[in-house]
Amino acid sequence: MGLVVVGAAGRMGRTLIRAVHETPGAAIVGAVEREGSPFVGQDAGELAGVGRLGVAIADDPLPAFAKADGVLDFTAPAATVVFAGYAAQARIAHIIGTTGCSEADDAAIAAAARHATIVKSGNMSLGVNLLAVLVEQAARALDAADFDIEVLEMHHRHKVDAPSGTALLLGEAAATGRQVPLADNSVRSRDGHTGPRPEGTIGFATLRGGSVVGDHSVILAGAGERIVLSHHAEDRALFARGAVKAALWAHGRKPGLYSMRDVLGLST
Ligand code: NAP
Repeated sequence: MGLVVVGAAGRMGRTLIRAVHETPGAAIVGAVEREGSPFVGQDAGELAGVGRLGVAIADDPLPAFAKADGVLDFTAPAATVVFAGYAAQARIAHIIGTTGCSEADDAAIAAAARHATIVKSGNMSLGVNLLAVLVEQAARALDAADFDIEVLEMHHRHKVDAPSGTALLLGEAAATGRQVPLADNSVRSRDGHTGPRPEGTIGFATLRGGSVVGDHSVILAGAGERIVLSHHAEDRALFARGAVKAALWAHGRKPGLYSMRDVLGLST
């Protein structure tokens, strides 16, 4: 399967190039950065530390998409929406790891999924997607009157969106377990005289610092006891391998918007 990595010079972009390079049956056929990037023209393999691949980083995605079977995209919401349109035109798979998308961005991505096979997930690791299944079960089993749900996350100092895509994915799982919409029941920040905690809400707390790849805990706090379900990502290669697995899974599948739970066979 021929894959294009967009945002090829980013933290995830370089990790994705290495993951594709290590995967039998997958090859890098294109690498894209934004116009004016100092990395344009450099060899993608050399940039990622796997040796020369003969694929120069380009600033025009269209020729790269035209010769590819799929796109790996961990960039930024505005870029991802544009890439989704191009992937739909080219009728190829689009694997989206970008987080921080607005409702309007998600609507544009869903529209593109009428023609492209899109896998989008705030976390591409097996561990977090399994954790989401466990969180859903726990939230379903424990009554909102007795157990409060809080999602705590920590990431490196460079991360630009909060809460993380993974925290939101875990919050969604908790809300699904409770059979309530997350949007109407989440508390995204607390400051000052907040009053007591409203029953049934799902709270989020965000920590940022250092080089943390991604730590998440879902705390179910009752009277006199707490259940803590946690995941610690130690290496972003985890997400990259998940994205390549998603691309191989999506290849030849009918257009639609899929999640990592579909790829991993964890959908209930
Ligand atoms: P990063 O190091 O900033 O990389 C993003 C790259 O995308 C940069 O090289 C950036 O270039 C490039 N880019 C932005 N707009 C572009 C455009 N229009 N055309 C081409 N390239 C463009 O960030 P990161 O840490 O790799 O994370 C990227 C995204 O992946 C974030 O949303 C993050 O939350 C998400 N993420 C998801 C998972 C998951 O499993 N789903 C895991 C890790 C990270 P410039 O620097 O020039 O802007």
